Amino acid sequence: MDILISEDLDAPAIQELAKKYHVVREPALWKDPVRLKEMIREARTIMVRNQTQLTAEVLSGAPNLLGIGRIGVGLDNIAVDAATKQNVVVIAPLNANATSVAELALALMLALAHKIAFSDRSTKAGGWDRKGCTGIELDKKVLAIFGFGRIGRMVAARARAFGMRVVVFDPFVKADSPHLGEYAATLATKIEEALEIADFVSVHSPLTPETKHMFNAKAFAAMKRGAFFINTSRGGVMDELALLQSLQLNHLGGAALDVREVEPPKERSAFESMDNVILTPHIGAFTQEAQTRTFECVCEDLDRLLSGQPAVSFVNIASAKSA
Ligand code: NAD
Repeated sequence: MDILISEDLDAPAIQELAKKYHVVREPALWKDPVRLKEMIREARTIMVRNQTQLTAEVLSGAPNLLGIGRIGVGLDNIAVDAATKQNVVVIAPLNANATSVAELALALMLALAHKIAFSDRSTKAGGWDRKGCTGIELDKKVLAIFGFGRIGRMVAARARAFGMRVVVFDPFVKADSPHLGEYAATLATKIEEALEIADFVSVHSPLTPETKHMFNAKAFAAMKRGAFFINTSRGGVMDELALLQSLQLNHLGGAALDVREVEPPKERSAFESMDNVILTPHIGAFTQEAQTRTFECVCEDLDRLLSGQPAVSFVNIASAKSA
């Protein structure tokens, strides 16, 4: 088997590959780790989104694997170090969806500030509550960006166009980084430094052991009363219960969550009934343009690997042991 697809993925680029290679599509395989282990044993490459857990253990049982094609950029479901040790190429379309996620973050910020979701709901319910729909402007507000990588910087550029002041928290960004000057951004060296002055907090860091629950009760308490929290990165970076409590205490002014600790959430939560909370189903990368770029990028690299050439959009090594 040349390409194993373990999630519900389809695109013209996959159909093109299927003309050339033996592609096995198992949309529900990610739910069955035992069967995943059986099937990956025979696979030369595997294509996943974010549901398939490619742990070190799963990868150790994949002697024929040349490469992993990740449809997206978050790598928290892939044991990249283990893949590297096994000489398995991890392909990720690093530049394919940043624009879409950055636009969504801005859209959510604007929607929170101008109470767009609430205005829509209340007007469709027959209301005309202009006073209750009074919002605030983004102009001159402070935006704290956590994670100043590809997406974080695109958010900064767009926020500047709306007249926002940008403060950045990212332990891997140096004070003399030219990107800070580009967006007139200041660098906070401690999390609290950024949280205390921010009117809006937007998260764009990966989920790692260090960022797990970076936004906990202490962090939400450090935010200004009435500030807004926007998470389009990963649900695991926030303690949802702590966020809920902060909103229930009217400490935070609102939140917009594209990602959740458990996806899809297993049960309904109090977020659903809050007028100042906007929920979207992990759609950061779900624009037509980003999906097309993502599938094309990953499929082209899988084709390269399977025909013995090095990958172009990889996060660890360009070439596998042998094709
Ligand atoms: P990137 O690697 O370019 O940037 C991530 C930045 O986070 C880096 O600058 C890094 O230094 C920083 N960082 C690392 N640890 C940190 C910490 N402890 N605190 C603060 N910053 C830290 O990645 P990117 O392409 O900008 O993507 C960022 C994340 O967005 C991805 O890891 C993914 O989880 C998420 N994402 C979500 C969607 C979606 O659909 N909602 C789509 C794409 C990406």
